[in-house]
Amino acid sequence: MRLLQIIGSFLYAIRWLLIVAIGIGLPLYIYLAFIAKEPVFTVENDVELGKMSAQSLAEDPEEYPILPESEYPEAYEHLRRVVGGIIDSPEIQYRDVFAYDQMKIINRDDVLNAFCTPGGYIYVYTGLIKYLDREDDLAGVLGHEIAHAENRHGSVRLQREFGVKALTGFLLLTVPISTSDYINARILKELMGLSYSRDQEAQSDAYSVRYLATSDYACDGTAGFFIKLQESGDDVGIPEILSDHPDSGSRIREIQREAKRVGCSTEPADPSRWKAFQQSLPQKDAAAAEGASE
Ligand SMILES: [Zn+2]
Repeated sequence: MRLLQIIGSFLYAIRWLLIVAIGIGLPLYIYLAFIAKEPVFTVENDVELGKMSAQSLAEDPEEYPILPESEYPEAYEHLRRVVGGIIDSPEIQYRDVFAYDQMKIINRDDVLNAFCTPGGYIYVYTGLIKYLDREDDLAGVLGHEIAHAENRHGSVRLQREFGVKALTGFLLLTVPISTSDYINARILKELMGLSYSRDQEAQSDAYSVRYLATSDYACDGTAGFFIKLQESGDDVGIPEILSDHPDSGSRIREIQREAKRVGCSTEPADPSRWKAFQQSLPQKDAAAAEGASE
């Protein structure tokens, strides 16, 4: 009899626990997953997420071989100049909060990409720098990536995707919600595989124009990147900037329309610095070709 009582009150407690958990958890996850358009993470969370991503990137030198600044100070000086020209814009809100000064060059000629994590950790592949014909185009692409961080697109996206997965996990009782390490690892995984929505891509294209409007770069530099892709017909994999909105024709038109609306200059900057930037990178292909001919 006593035992039955214990089991009875245990089941009663479990039932209430479930009701409370579902009562609070379910609406919260539905809100995160489907309703929230603004990040519920704070700006400090963004910086923390960025720091975590930067650490996990640093632990994977095979995939992300970071070009050491101590050996290539000139390349980093050039990159700092380009990023500086963008974040000087009065439209940049998190200049002093985000880690824009932590920018890194990834030494891979086979990747035409650049990205910026939440919290402003900027990564640029050597492949992209070597591919582009003008510094203006790199500034355009970086302006686009910085706009994702400034508008906190990653956080919105993350809470949406993570919210859905956590909800599913929660219902299937497979996510140990209390295990924070586990959740951190999952967030990180989501973050690395993150793709942005069409609206977020369009917004970042427009912001790139606005950031460049006060620089000495052609403010429609992002369009320059798309034009180069179209003209060369290169199969470049899928750089972040094309991830969810690959129709470059309509994006070129929208970017140019925004430049007209803002009334900014589309005259390219002094091209001599760009050559110097490209030459400051390791010239791996030349070395490889030499090696092959021996
Ligand atoms: Zn993008």
